[in-house]
Amino acid sequence: MIPPVEDQQNATRIPVGYVTTSRYCEAGCAFCRLASPPPTKIKPSEPAAAVVPAWAEARLVKVRGGLFTAKPFDFWVRWLRQLTPRLAPGTTLLAFSPVELWHYHETEHRSLRDLARALVWAGVSALGPGGSETWDVARRAAWSTRRITVEQWWQVVESAAAVGLSYTVGPMILPRQSQSDADDYLRHLRPIPPLHLELKPLHSQGTRLQSEGSPQIVEVAEWAARVRTSRPTWPIYVRWPSPHSDAAAILGASGVSGILIPQWEVEV
Ligand code: SF4
Repeated sequence: MIPPVEDQQNATRIPVGYVTTSRYCEAGCAFCRLASPPPTKIKPSEPAAAVVPAWAEARLVKVRGGLFTAKPFDFWVRWLRQLTPRLAPGTTLLAFSPVELWHYHETEHRSLRDLARALVWAGVSALGPGGSETWDVARRAAWSTRRITVEQWWQVVESAAAVGLSYTVGPMILPRQSQSDADDYLRHLRPIPPLHLELKPLHSQGTRLQSEGSPQIVEVAEWAARVRTSRPTWPIYVRWPSPHSDAAAILGASGVSGILIPQWEVEV
């Protein structure tokens, strides 16, 4: 049930900058618009954080990428350490998801705490939500078999929390879901409050899930209202493609704190 819409409850607009570390990934998740199979040749290293313009104001910067990069984890740590002074004051920096951290944990034989501690040193506020879209066992088996399990996802988050690195969580919203889907999802949450929860409506165009379509705004609003009831104090953000004032009012009335608006994207 969506609460009555009132002007003063509009969700705020949150400008977001995206840094893509790699468009190559062998995981092949059915809903992914970011990644493609690794190339046979890797392009040479790009210059470091200078590619992100100093004027690029964003309240949230997200560093993300596929599970295939020619650069070691410490390259990215140094890169992030150079990036943080260039961001506008008050910007929140999310870098890497539990899926990516687990990847480095396995490929570089480093502890999860060691990796998380390095991100804290670099000025990162929290981990991105990647991997938390597919906590549902059936969904993961159908679309995302190579991703980490729910237990591994939380292992990363708990290791990060132990060294002062927060996390974010992002349920994927499909069209025509039942109302209990949100409740099922919320049951997977553990008692570590995230920096925020990001609702991710499926943008299926150009993915293997294209025939599924995408959810309507009222479906997203219903999800938000259920999360808001369950977690009254958590910031709830939504990636919604057309952030007109009606959308801000509907989502705001449903408990959404902010709509994520892409401002810029760079690839490194
Ligand atoms: S692991 Fe991430 S980047 Fe790789 S295919 Fe899946 S969603 Fe895309």
